[in-house]
Amino acid sequence: MTIDTMRAVRMTAWGEPAQVLRVRVPEPQGAELLIEVRAAGLCRSDLHVMDAPAGVFDYPLPLTLGHEVAGTVVGAGPDADSSWIGESVVVHGVWSCGECRNCRRGRENYCHALRPRAGGLLPAIGSGLGYDGGLADAMIVPSERFVVRTRGLAPESAAPLADAALTAYHAIRTNRDLVDSHSVVVVVGVGGLGHLAVQILRALGAGTIVAVDPRDGSRDLARRLGADRAVPEVADVARADADVVFDFVGSPATVDSAAQLLGPGGRLVTVGSGGGRLTVGKNVGLPNGWQVSAPFWGTRADLEAVVDLAQQGLLSVESAAYRLDDALDVYDRLRRGAITGRAVLVP
Ligand SMILES: [Zn+2]
Ligand SMILES: [Zn+2]
Repeated sequence: MTIDTMRAVRMTAWGEPAQVLRVRVPEPQGAELLIEVRAAGLCRSDLHVMDAPAGVFDYPLPLTLGHEVAGTVVGAGPDADSSWIGESVVVHGVWSCGECRNCRRGRENYCHALRPRAGGLLPAIGSGLGYDGGLADAMIVPSERFVVRTRGLAPESAAPLADAALTAYHAIRTNRDLVDSHSVVVVVGVGGLGHLAVQILRALGAGTIVAVDPRDGSRDLARRLGADRAVPEVADVARADADVVFDFVGSPATVDSAAQLLGPGGRLVTVGSGGGRLTVGKNVGLPNGWQVSAPFWGTRADLEAVVDLAQQGLLSVESAAYRLDDALDVYDRLRRGAITGRAVLVP
């Protein structure tokens, strides 16, 4: 039996909601692999893409969303290694060039080919972000460089590793020198990324972890996953003297106040794109040697590391599964903050 059409959650116009449409099943060309999707996570960045007016993202439409994808390789182009067929994989969604100096350094999430073009248009990055993604029955991945074996993890647990866990892990790994048994670390926002950050910090031996989230359920979750303390607002942390503050919200309400929690030589790591702004300078009332960074997604090696953590049982994704056909309702819930952990669609 050959099935030649499939469902896909697609954007067809800027500023309009996505729709569940029937499209042709793509055929892998060249080095491409065809993935049958088993689970795909929904992310707040999808909302940013859907809400954007024309002229913000340099993405061709129509576009199938979805950048947190786990599935099975079911097809390979003529130049691909067909031994991948049958493997369970998670998709690394940053489709880097593989040749620029950052790619050669293993920092392919900062690939020089993936940066804003003239006029500030945001470039196509990869899966569901400029190229058809995994909120569909199947998707194409450009080459085996962008898949990692999941070796027995359940698809609903594996999919959120591709962004929620990967982004949190990359943010923490690049500040690994400040994460030890003496550390004071603050996690602002215990949602899809933050609840994984708490576990990763615990696994890496962080001394004291303080979580911040206004939602009662999220604070309970943070405590259950290993936070020493959980408080509703950044202001409630009071005199943290923190080594690192991971801000998974990044809103006007959190960015400035999060910086105030830093101790000497402390770092503010802004992960959430909530539109907050920070004034950077010397003698701006922050301790000596403070630093700020805005990490983006993660490397393939980071993705392999989070798959390892999940396999060791050190990282468990709080996820709720929904049907692909219900995608639009689930996006509405995500927008209202009514999802605890990560929402995953199962085709
Ligand atoms: Zn995302
Ligand atoms: Zn590159």
